[in-house]
Amino acid sequence: MAEFKQSPPVLKNQYDDDRVLRSYLSRVLPPDVLTDIHESLSEMGRLAGGELYELQLADRLNEPTLTQWDAWGTRIDKIEVTPLWQRAERIAAEHGVVATAYEQKHGSLSRVHQCALAYLFTPSTDIYSCPLAMTDGAARTLLNSGNQELIDRAVPHLITRDPKEFWTAGQWMTELTGGSDVGLSETVAKQDATGYRLYGRKWFTSAIASQMALTLARPEGNPPGGRGLALFYLETRDEHGRPRNIQINRLKDKLGTRKVPTAELTLDGTPAQLVKGPTDGVRNIAPLLNITRLWNGISAVALMRRGLALSFDYASKRVAFGAPLCEKPLHVDTLATLQAEFEGAFQLAFYVAQLTGKTETREISDDDALLLRVLTPIMKLTTAKQAVLVTSEVLESFGGAGYVEDTGLPVLLRDSQVLPIWEGTTNVLALDTLRALQSDGDAQRGLQRFQRVVINCVDGVNDSALVNVVRSALDHAASWLADAQGDAREAGARRFSLTLGRTIELALLIKHESLQAARRLASLGVDVIF
Ligand SMILES: Cc1cc2nc3c(=O)[nH]c(=O)nc-3n(C[C@H](O)[C@H](O)[C@H](O)COP(=O)(O)OP(=O)(O)OC[C@H]3O[C@@H](n4cnc5c(N)ncnc54)[C@H](O)[C@@H]3O)c2cc1C
Repeated sequence: MAEFKQSPPVLKNQYDDDRVLRSYLSRVLPPDVLTDIHESLSEMGRLAGGELYELQLADRLNEPTLTQWDAWGTRIDKIEVTPLWQRAERIAAEHGVVATAYEQKHGSLSRVHQCALAYLFTPSTDIYSCPLAMTDGAARTLLNSGNQELIDRAVPHLITRDPKEFWTAGQWMTELTGGSDVGLSETVAKQDATGYRLYGRKWFTSAIASQMALTLARPEGNPPGGRGLALFYLETRDEHGRPRNIQINRLKDKLGTRKVPTAELTLDGTPAQLVKGPTDGVRNIAPLLNITRLWNGISAVALMRRGLALSFDYASKRVAFGAPLCEKPLHVDTLATLQAEFEGAFQLAFYVAQLTGKTETREISDDDALLLRVLTPIMKLTTAKQAVLVTSEVLESFGGAGYVEDTGLPVLLRDSQVLPIWEGTTNVLALDTLRALQSDGDAQRGLQRFQRVVINCVDGVNDSALVNVVRSALDHAASWLADAQGDAREAGARRFSLTLGRTIELALLIKHESLQAARRLASLGVDVIF
């Protein structure tokens, strides 16, 4: 009997093969910049589609381990990450997946280059993007803080390309009392002759193998709430590798992100230093959150892209009812819908990267700075939802194989599912969007500024049907904002923010002349306010 063999999906160089990334970079980068960074992206694309992808598949069943005691009864709380993560750390450092943004070889556009590297690197490294995001965010926060001692001590490690010198950073905010309402945090900072020491429990601390962390604690005597918290810097281990009065109680058993060691901690006199004054910790940690939210969006589009790259390849190989799936109109239509969601999300995430780069080189106009404040939560919440939707459909596009672990496919959905939860849930960011629009006292004015940017994207475009979808969604958002009051406004915040997110995605697609994707996104609906 002839034995049927199914060819598996394969990945090519993930940079060469990515039409969306390449056309975007051609549009936004001057030709000399594109030429200059081509090699680094092509090399990362080669690793992502080759060595790292193979290692990822081989590493599938490995997970990080926590050893709390040594053989002789000494508490050691040793974390070991998997071979994939060890390799990923080295590659991340050497290829400047964080460093590129700080070297600023191409000014503000270095942030775009770095995000492109992160986008290529992320889907082959099982959320190694998590420690990198926090490392990047910690570097930015320390640099913005003006605390020269801490800048000199930590930043060179966070932004180095030397793997031996490279540090990653944790971000310890969430406590049992709440991750959204961090003002309830119970960790206390007590001062003695040696400085501050922290006492409390941190409930979600990812990438716990990091060398340093930024965390929140309430200096004794400070008032309750977010303002009474201070932002602290700490190093997790002493020169002998022993935890600095930190106990790792256990690693979380999670739906996804299973390569990420996410711990519950007890801080029992952990030495820490103030980053920027003894109050306003929540405000002072904002630069970190802006960066990790950008990474969240880049990760969302990266995971969508990986799923689609595999799915498109498989569609050319899997035969059903007499023809490959790529010749079946309904299968093609299904994938085109996912591609449109991905392309819209891509344009928005990278637009936020462009604005972030400009703010870092202080080239941003006041208007764009306010726009970035509004767009960061909108982008994070919109792209995260799209990633869950797209990766779920990607699994279905493989039929039963998409549900089977050793294809390496289910992890795409599991890992995407964290994106709407951490770094601010959808609801919390939707409320933040309303606050951001109001940052100069008048939400309508904030929205008008957003409208101007969106309308500029579609100015002069001939396709009146498409332009009308953009305009009418914006008008609806404006009238909703003017009418909705009190509880109704709060209850509608998610629909409002998603509408703004999808509308600007559509406008950016039109600006990029991705009209096929734009038409499809428009027909799927951008206005979800009711
Ligand atoms: C894998 C993983 C890793 C993590 N790593 C870290 C880490 O390294 N560091 C860290 O600090 N945290 C980390 N977190 C925690 C994460 O940031 C929080 O779980 C998240 O912020 C939500 O907080 P919570 O779990 O306390 O939920 P809650 O704040 O209790 O929220 C529960 C629900 O209520 C909703 N909600 C809350 N407030 C409102 C409101 N005002 N209106 C409407 N709805 C509301 C939320 O949207 C959510 O759906 C991690 C989480 C996960 C899953």
